Amino acid sequence: MWDWDVITGNIVWNQTFLTLFGYSQQDVAGGIDWWTAKLHPEDRARTEKGLAMALAGNDVTWGSAYRFLTATGRYSHVADRGYIIRGPDGRALRAIGSMVDVTERIEMQHRLLLTDRMASLGTLAAGVAHEINNPLTHVIGNLEVAGRWLASTDGSGGPNAVARANDALVDAKQGAHRVRDIVRDLRIFARVDAAKQDAVEIRAPLDLAMRITGHAIQQRAHLVTSFADVPPVQGDESRLGQVFVNLLVNAVQSIPEGDVSGNRVRVSTQTRGDSVVIAIEDTGRGIPADVLGRIFDPFFTTKDVGMGTGLGLSICHGIVLSLGGSIEVDSEIGRGTTFRVVLPVADPVPQPAAVPVPAPRSGGRRARVLIIDDDPLTRTLLERTLSNEHDVIALSAAKEALQMLLQGERFDVVFSDLMMPEMTGMDFYAQVLRQVPSQAARIVFLTAGAMTASAQHFLDDVPNTCLEKPFDLDVLLELIRRRVADRAPMQRDPS
Ligand code: ADP
Repeated sequence: MWDWDVITGNIVWNQTFLTLFGYSQQDVAGGIDWWTAKLHPEDRARTEKGLAMALAGNDVTWGSAYRFLTATGRYSHVADRGYIIRGPDGRALRAIGSMVDVTERIEMQHRLLLTDRMASLGTLAAGVAHEINNPLTHVIGNLEVAGRWLASTDGSGGPNAVARANDALVDAKQGAHRVRDIVRDLRIFARVDAAKQDAVEIRAPLDLAMRITGHAIQQRAHLVTSFADVPPVQGDESRLGQVFVNLLVNAVQSIPEGDVSGNRVRVSTQTRGDSVVIAIEDTGRGIPADVLGRIFDPFFTTKDVGMGTGLGLSICHGIVLSLGGSIEVDSEIGRGTTFRVVLPVADPVPQPAAVPVPAPRSGGRRARVLIIDDDPLTRTLLERTLSNEHDVIALSAAKEALQMLLQGERFDVVFSDLMMPEMTGMDFYAQVLRQVPSQAARIVFLTAGAMTASAQHFLDDVPNTCLEKPFDLDVLLELIRRRVADRAPMQRDPS
């Protein structure tokens, strides 16, 4: 408890306060200034301002949450509430209140947030494994078949052995492309930036969320979709993906097991005025009226321990609100629930005039190509692909490559991996820009996508091309062809 004389600034702290935060009566003699000095620097201005405003107005209560330095030298999270006593003229004379240490509660909330993330990770991992295993079976099987046909080109496989091997390889490639697409899709969950506000085609995050939760839905219901042709919305693809995954997981969990054909999860889109409405409808157990008002509260859950943390809807709500939208819900016990995410239509983006792309010249001279990648498989693949048409040097370390450039070697194209031990592609670029600037524009970055925030910012800022692994070999060859088309052959620096 504290009892503050607003006029003199003196505060009387009771024994419970002293015991809780470890101070003695001598320590706390400084009154309001002592208290202010113990506030966490990041919370101080906000807390002081809130208090000053409460005193200056005609409030009779004041409350704040802040970090407070204890005698042990650590900050405690504190919830502080006070009652303001005013004179006949309304002036604040005295305030009495109490500070409660809520550190444990806050730490538990952090732990729960982590649990929720782990739970979504579990759903995601199961979905991904299922999605990838099918095409992967296709790839492995077809590669084996191709190997067998090729082994029989001695005549035992008949005249069509090579053609059959080729067919199997084409199929294997298709499967591998499917895996590549899935991995690309998943990157929207590896968010490194704050929420962006882009024009988003709603189908992209919606389709992804349906793919990820698809196998879970199939265990309990059939999935029905009805998509109207809707304009792009204002939003962030990655966050919207999270919203839809959450809503679909909730829909599935509301449907009891055992009657797949009698249950349904329906996903639909439609335009409503200046908004797009995405509805996720289930035939689950429904939400009781007394629960309905609380479902968006953080930590509110009716699910068993381990099944829900009560954070899903509050996170969804936060995301949708931050995008200028809203979430509506209708529910009927025993019949089901419909969640509607309403998002404003994106501002029209001015379309840049189409730039005519010059037709590639066929053939062209041999290019000098440098490859820097610490992954031996990628190096070998690139060498194999390019060395027929071009002169290729492949190195495992950017340091060696820099050395070559410093010794005067010049290249038409330098493919550099971004994330490498010792010298990263970013460091390499900075050194080249400084020491051999004429070669900096020749660098083309290769990335496998698992990027740090700084790498992402780097790529956003540099003008250089970046190819995402796995890349199409034709794209690679075409890029080299274009680069050498208008340039004189590269040998050594004339200097
Ligand atoms: P969690 O799923 O971890 O419990 P949420 O915030 O996502 O947390 O949901 C809060 C509560 O809202 C759930 O525990 C459940 O009672 C209710 N709820 C959410 N979606 C549905 C739904 N589609 N059908 C029935 N109840 C739902």
